[in-house]
Amino acid sequence: FQQIMLNLIDNAIKFSPEGIVKVELDCSNNKKLLIKVIDNGIGINKKKIKEIFNPYSQEKTNTSRQYGGTGLGLAICDQIIQLMAGEINVASNSNGSTFIVKIPIQIASKKVIEDDLLNKVDLKSIGILIVEDDELNGKLFKDLIKSQYIKANVDWVKNGVEAIENLFKSSYDIILMDIEMPLKNGYETSIAIRSTSKPFQNIPIIGMTAHIVEDVVEKCYASGMNDCISKPFQLEALVNKINNLCKLETKVNSDNEFNSNEKYIKIFSTNFLADLKKLEKCEKNNDIEGVLSILHKIKGSSFTMGYESLGNAISQMEQKKLVDLELLEKLFHQSINQK
Ligand code: ADP
Repeated sequence: FQQIMLNLIDNAIKFSPEGIVKVELDCSNNKKLLIKVIDNGIGINKKKIKEIFNPYSQEKTNTSRQYGGTGLGLAICDQIIQLMAGEINVASNSNGSTFIVKIPIQIASKKVIEDDLLNKVDLKSIGILIVEDDELNGKLFKDLIKSQYIKANVDWVKNGVEAIENLFKSSYDIILMDIEMPLKNGYETSIAIRSTSKPFQNIPIIGMTAHIVEDVVEKCYASGMNDCISKPFQLEALVNKINNLCKLETKVNSDNEFNSNEKYIKIFSTNFLADLKKLEKCEKNNDIEGVLSILHKIKGSSFTMGYESLGNAISQMEQKKLVDLELLEKLFHQSINQK
C-alpha cells in the first residue's frame, strides 16, 4: 500500500511543477477503499493514456530527460493493486490528472484494532534498572534488554547503594538485581527499597543469581523480590519474567549472538586478567574470602560468555577452596580463542 501511494504521489508532484497535489481517502464503503491522487499538473495525452501502465512506457520520448523516471512506477502499482484484487484508473486532461485506486479491504473491527494495539504495548518506553557489579554482565544485560525492548530506557549501576540513588533520580518500571555485590548486596537493597515510603517502594524486582538453589530463592522472596532468575539466563526466560511483571507482550527476538561478539570478549578478557592478578594477591595474603569472591565473579562471567570448561574449572576451585592460576590462564586463552 505504501509503495502504491509513494509512486502515485511522487508522479503527481513530479508532473505538477507549480501545482497542487491532493490525496483523498474514502473508506465509507465498508468493503472497498477508494483513493484518489489528484494533481493540476501537465496532464496526459489521450492517445497515450492507455499505455502508461505498461512497463517502460513514458508519455513522450523526452519525458525521461525532462522529468526523470523509468516508466516502471505505474506498471508496478498496477501489478500490486491487481494482487490486492483491486483496480487503478486514470482521468486526465490539460488541467491535470486524477489516479483512482479501488482496493477491496474491510474496515477492521474494534476488537482487531484493540488486539493490535495491545501487541504494540511493548513498544512503549519502559524503564529498566540493572544492578550488577560485574562489568561484562552489566553491559551485556543492558545490550540484551535493549535488543528486546527497543524503546526501553535501560540503566546499569554497579551496586545497591547506586541503585537506590538512581531510584530517587529516575523512574523505573522494573529492577534486575544481582545478589552478590559489594557495599549492599541484592537482599539488603531489596529490603531497603521495600521499607521506604517512596513511590518506588513497590517496584517489581527480579533477583539474578548464579546459584539458583532453594535457599537462595527463599531469601529472594523473603527480601521482597518478586521473582528470580539464574545466570547466565535464557533470553526467553528473562523476557517472560519482565513481560509478566510489567504486563507486556514482547515477543523474543533471538537474533543476537553476543558470545561471538568481539566487544564482549574484550571486556571479559580485560576484567578476567585483572581479576587473576587480584586472585594471586589474595592467595599470597591468605585472604580466603577475597579468593572466593573473585572466583565467584569470574565463574559467572565465564558461564555468561559460554566458556563452559573454564567455568566448570573455576567452580571446582571454588568448592575445593583451592586455586590453580596456571590452569586458569591456560583455559582462559583456550576459551577466548575458540570459535
Ligand atoms: P516514471 O514516472 O518513472 O516515468 P511511471 O510508470 O510512474 O514512470 O509513469 C509513466 C508515465 O506516465 C510518466 O512518464 C508520465 O509520462 C505519465 N504520468 C504518470 N503520472 C502522471 C501525472 N500525475 N501527470 C502526468 N503524467 C503522468
